[in-house]
Amino acid sequence: MPADEKSAAPYRGRFAPSPTGPLHFGSLVAAVGSYLDARAHKGEWLLRIEDIDPPREVAGATDAILRALDSFGLEWDGQVVYQSRRGDYYTSALERLRQHGYLYGCACTRREIADSRLKRGTAGIYPGTCRNGILPGRTARALRVRVEPGSIGLTDRLQGNSRQSLLEEVGDFIVRRADNLIAYQLAVVVDDAEQEMTHVVRGVDLLESTHRQVYLQQLLELPTPVYLHLPVAVNSAGDKLSKQTLARHIGADHKTTTLLDVLRFLHQELPDSPGDARVDELLGWAIAHWDVDNIPARRVLPSPPEYTGTGAGP
Ligand code: GLU
Repeated sequence: MPADEKSAAPYRGRFAPSPTGPLHFGSLVAAVGSYLDARAHKGEWLLRIEDIDPPREVAGATDAILRALDSFGLEWDGQVVYQSRRGDYYTSALERLRQHGYLYGCACTRREIADSRLKRGTAGIYPGTCRNGILPGRTARALRVRVEPGSIGLTDRLQGNSRQSLLEEVGDFIVRRADNLIAYQLAVVVDDAEQEMTHVVRGVDLLESTHRQVYLQQLLELPTPVYLHLPVAVNSAGDKLSKQTLARHIGADHKTTTLLDVLRFLHQELPDSPGDARVDELLGWAIAHWDVDNIPARRVLPSPPEYTGTGAGP
């Protein structure tokens, strides 16, 4: 780690997987990257299971993720935190947003939003239909946060500086969905602050969401952590490796090879004869030699060959 990155400030980071499937190469990159960065800073590394979206959950995924982390020697500090048990925190954040006048009920269906987007030629942006009240006879489905003119700035340790105009590029966004589930954007902001995270290390696919998260932090008067968005692994077809694209999960029988592939993917220095090392030795080496400056800032990188393991158990 370069000297200028060493700091006396306490470091608390996390890995926050959604239990939508077992750990795969892409999520292992986020797990290992966040772990190494925390340990290289002599910081804490917490595990938070983001299980607030039951329709997307896969039975047994949480256990598979915990077992896989364990089998790679990625030991987390403290108790595992489950978002499904933290509803009160999210409700009180919604209440604060309401009190400050930033929350409103939205009656629009997906279909209506898609239709109005087409008219305006502004795909992906909520057109603000319910901003000033719901039409008579309609009922609020989701809750949205009102965004303001101006842009949100973000500094990322790897991706550099960026700005996003939420009004022009996103529109008022959902914090509680029509099915009453809390949106990821709100839950992640509330939890990162309540758990006192100082650093967030995760995949670059979440960079675009981060400006919304910084906005929510500002509205809720919460601190903004230091962000590091790692490159994301894509398969040969160019799709992000995710549980949804059914990326093969990593095998328990190839732990050293898999970990080496993660370290290569992040362009980290490897020991001599790396194939002979045990995973715990390799992790120790990787902590001692962790260097963010070596990570390619490119947003997507091809993944190493897919794994054929049948599970990530111990
Ligand atoms: N739960 C999210 C995922 O699995 C990651 C959230 C985060 O790191 O902020 O993609």
